[in-house]
Amino acid sequence: MDFDLTDEQRQIRETLAAFAEREIKPHSAEWDRNEHFPREVVEKLGALGFIGVSFAEKYGGGGADTLSQVLVVEGLSRYDASVGLTCAAHMSLGSGHIALFASEEQKARYLPDLVSAKKLAAWCLTEPDSGSDAAALRTSAVRDGDHYVINGSKLFITNGNVAEVLVVMARTDPSRGHDGISAFIVERGMPGLSNGRKIEKLGMRASDTAEVIFENLSVPASNLIGEPGQGFRPQTVSVLEGGRIGIAGFAAGIARGALEDSIAYARERRQFGKPIADFQAIQWMLADMATRIDAAWMLTCRAAKLRDARRPFGREAAMAKLCASEAAMWATTKAVQIHGGYGYVTDFPVERYMRDAKIAEIGEGTSEVQRMIIAKSILRDGATPA
Ligand SMILES: Cc1cc2nc3c(=O)[nH]c(=O)nc-3n(C[C@H](O)[C@H](O)[C@H](O)COP(=O)(O)OP(=O)(O)OC[C@H]3O[C@@H](n4cnc5c(N)ncnc54)[C@H](O)[C@@H]3O)c2cc1C
Repeated sequence: MDFDLTDEQRQIRETLAAFAEREIKPHSAEWDRNEHFPREVVEKLGALGFIGVSFAEKYGGGGADTLSQVLVVEGLSRYDASVGLTCAAHMSLGSGHIALFASEEQKARYLPDLVSAKKLAAWCLTEPDSGSDAAALRTSAVRDGDHYVINGSKLFITNGNVAEVLVVMARTDPSRGHDGISAFIVERGMPGLSNGRKIEKLGMRASDTAEVIFENLSVPASNLIGEPGQGFRPQTVSVLEGGRIGIAGFAAGIARGALEDSIAYARERRQFGKPIADFQAIQWMLADMATRIDAAWMLTCRAAKLRDARRPFGREAAMAKLCASEAAMWATTKAVQIHGGYGYVTDFPVERYMRDAKIAEIGEGTSEVQRMIIAKSILRDGATPA
């Protein structure tokens, strides 16, 4: 498999890095401190074509491949993981669900504004009592003439306070388990849609995370995505598989930031009359960080390429997400260590990288869930990928 970036992909990486150095890096610490959601930056990313890079051209997208979108998430997360997660949830989950499974009419109605980031999307699966076991969700959608009436609530929804378009998974048939779940497109402003308490977080503090509440929310039946009962299988399963490649890129970006900052610091910082980069203990941490990050990135590229080749990629996406998220948590912890006391305080960004990295081991399926997916696949199909 060829892991070289194409000229177009290199250009995405370079122009995005220039944008992030200018528009994101100078503000990240302040946004984190003040829990400021930088909507204006996401809108600029939309206007410049980064948000739409992998969506179909007929909806205003760039028509590029999965890896191009992952490069956008990775490149943003290297500077500001909150911006990276905001865009990943918007592109891969909310808008991605519509792009993959909505009707032509629904796509024509919703995608142009989502692709350009004039509107933001959220994807509402998790509930207070259902997380890893997502199919145990209890939010209900009951048919009433040409509408469905939705009742229930969702928790930990990225962009949940700020999105204008929300894809909501709800139970339409209580007797059918996984196959009784359907997906709906809900619009901000529909009566019965509201947000709950403010959620304060360890990291990702410039990303919006919300409780979303549905009280007799009446949604036109024409906003059902696909057929009743398809919301979990195939839709959610497929959206999550693709989303995990994005989260792998997100984690790889945070980890790269930790490594690049650590290299710079180790060259500068002097102890015992020499740069700490001269000490083998520091060199080994840097070497291990680089190795884990490269492994994570290669797994991420493999999963992205399999997806674009329309080959099965569920196992590979889980491996990429597992490896990259654990690499990010490990590398950011080492980055704090390399920075010593300066790593523990907010003068340097590595403490933020460490706080931000933790979400990658939890969101879109915890590391335990990824191991369950990988184990099930290798026990069923053997160790060698198809
Ligand atoms: C910042 C943030 C953003 C998020 N964004 C979104 C979003 O946009 N949309 C959305 O729908 N959700 C979102 N989530 C929710 C996220 O996907 C869930 O938190 C995650 O799937 C875990 O679910 P849970 O929190 O209920 O944990 P639980 O499922 O209760 O897990 C608790 C622990 O038990 C372990 N565990 C559970 N089941 C098993 C098992 N069978 N075997 C072994 N161990 C197990 C887990 O790995 C974990 O360690 C977000 C969460 C956060 C914190």
